[in-house]
Amino acid sequence: MAVSDQKELRPSATDAFDDADYEVVERICPGLRVEGPPEDLAREADTRTDPVWGHYKTIVLAHAGKPLHRWEGSTGGVLTGLAAMMLATGEVRFVLHVKACEEQPTFGVSTMSFTEADVLQAAGSRYGPAAPLTRLTEALDLGQPFAFIGRPCDLSALANLSDTEPRIAELIRYRLAFVCGGPTVSLDIDRMVRNAGVDPDALVSMRYRGRGCPGPTTMVTGDGTEVNKRYVDFLDPDGGSWPMPFRCKICPDGIGEIADIAVSDTWIGGGPDAETEETDPGTNALIVRTAAGCALVEAAAKAGFLTLGEEVGPSELNAYQPHQHDKKYAAWARLEGLRRGGRLYPKTRRLRLRQLAEDMPRAFNEDQASGTLRRAQALVPEIVPPPASTCRRRSSAGACGACAGAGD
Ligand SMILES: Cc1cc2nc3c(=O)[nH]c(=O)nc-3n(C[C@H](O)[C@H](O)[C@H](O)COP(=O)(O)OP(=O)(O)OC[C@H]3O[C@@H](n4cnc5c(N)ncnc54)[C@H](O)[C@@H]3O)c2cc1C
Repeated sequence: MAVSDQKELRPSATDAFDDADYEVVERICPGLRVEGPPEDLAREADTRTDPVWGHYKTIVLAHAGKPLHRWEGSTGGVLTGLAAMMLATGEVRFVLHVKACEEQPTFGVSTMSFTEADVLQAAGSRYGPAAPLTRLTEALDLGQPFAFIGRPCDLSALANLSDTEPRIAELIRYRLAFVCGGPTVSLDIDRMVRNAGVDPDALVSMRYRGRGCPGPTTMVTGDGTEVNKRYVDFLDPDGGSWPMPFRCKICPDGIGEIADIAVSDTWIGGGPDAETEETDPGTNALIVRTAAGCALVEAAAKAGFLTLGEEVGPSELNAYQPHQHDKKYAAWARLEGLRRGGRLYPKTRRLRLRQLAEDMPRAFNEDQASGTLRRAQALVPEIVPPPASTCRRRSSAGACGACAGAGD
């Protein structure tokens, strides 16, 4: 991964890129392939399925049982608490996830945490560019059991790669995700930093949230100056949604469908309440999807690493995450717009997208499809044909993406 001229992390080929390489990318890249969990999960007796939120065993509110984990965590510190417990019990040797990047303080960087102190250092959401899997090979080469925490798309990459990399199933004991609405466009983060009166080039540290829920956004510059902004004032000064990469606008799975546990915020309406944001200690919702996830939550509660609250359901998640709910209903049409236009888009399976789109008015779907294609055309006016051998049914434009339907 390399930093592009738009200050984003982008894959770059170190050697010449041939058709065979492109085929591998097509199979693994979560920009091109996103699939739900295996059908077996749905058949397990205690699995419930919601058309928007997917398969789950239970959905429960919780926060980290240890006050320090809750404090340092982005929301209620659940991911930090679970990571600390897995290390304490020895169930995993380390956790592969993301911490703040020293060289590019607005970015996240892949890290392997071996101790509770390491895990605490990585607590909090990184809204800038981050690529947690850049150290995957190194992690697998250690030959030790580990846990992975990341975005739903990171989990898709892992699942796609596991077709040809058996060590993923062997060594990764738990896959935890946070529900992800998408990171912020990197140059926009710099603009927000500037709006806060700080020179982005002078930053030596950047903490987006945590130490309360959401807690302050804290920027420190080389001369030791610390600037704190309220999270909403930093990210969302105009009351709108923050700019995000195009791939995230069309994301077919922001809810971690293949995670053992997907963890979210619990703000009604999707954002913090101005009245309580300075005093809220943070509570997560946990979508516990697998038997392994259930066992982990149970063990964490027993050992004091999690404090469980009430069970909730899909309707509460809809209230906490209206943006995820709406995006799930729009995803099929957005991908279909790209397919029709001969553009690249993620091929999907087992995500119920078509079923959800069928519940929407035709005019809505048409609008989403054409609007998405317009955005794509504005971003990338020219279509670059893929290598000939990878396109199963080349369109007149010679473009990938015309091969199959937008998926299910
Ligand atoms: C880009 C982004 C978008 C999000 N969108 C939503 C949303 O739409 N709805 C919602 O409810 N919650 C969203 N969250 C998640 C939310 O901010 C919390 O991370 C989540 O509730 C978990 O809280 P926690 O207290 O358990 O996390 P913590 O205990 O603080 O643990 C966070 C964990 O996530 C890892 N991490 C942080 N940033 C990244 C990253 N960029 N890539 C990979 N791993 C990372 C850290 O290494 C750490 O292990 C988003 C987070 C991010 C980073």
